[in-house]
Amino acid sequence: MMHSGLSNSDLVELTAFRRLLHRYPEISGEEWETAARIVAALEPLSPSRILTGLGGHGVAAAFDSGVAGPTVLFRAELDALPIQEINDLEWVSQVPGKGHLCGHDGHMTILLALGRLLSRHPVARGRVVLMFQPSEEDGAGARAVVADPPRLGLCHPSGTGAAFRLSCDTGRADELRLSGVGDPLAGQNRPCGQSRRRGVPRAGGGRADPRD
Ligand SMILES: [Zn+2]
Repeated sequence: MMHSGLSNSDLVELTAFRRLLHRYPEISGEEWETAARIVAALEPLSPSRILTGLGGHGVAAAFDSGVAGPTVLFRAELDALPIQEINDLEWVSQVPGKGHLCGHDGHMTILLALGRLLSRHPVARGRVVLMFQPSEEDGAGARAVVADPPRLGLCHPSGTGAAFRLSCDTGRADELRLSGVGDPLAGQNRPCGQSRRRGVPRAGGGRADPRD
């Protein structure tokens, strides 16, 4: 009996959502519209709680079993890069000088896919938190989110727990990794765009394949 997995309609809808995010990139600290889109996509999944305005425009959704247990947090990022996207894809960035060239649109969509699964197949104990962090590319967002303990405490691991970030470091969109354990700041010292900024910014494809 199949208990997990996404349907074809899930994949169609999620692909369309990722392309929508890709069309309208917002850079660090300006992710209000992206955050609103994420909230609108989370609400039908009926998480136990949705927090907004975390560290700026951050959004978190908690799927809580109501039974004591570990908390596991998965993190994606809301912001795009201040780089012009140049290609002829239908969903090319509509915002001059800004583009989702680091794959954060894909990361966000992956977390929403996970949210769909959690909505249909709730965890038996503990809770899962989906964190959509703002301002990842300028390195400010993780610290700002964690500096909001009164509200973050509502979904922060207490006792045992773990936090994972989706990584775009591998250079291939089909090799996403999860990294970081036990600390929601995992990876915050190395923004995804950092290595690229040291070199010549690439206009166009970037690391994340916009064709997917
Ligand atoms: Zn990035």
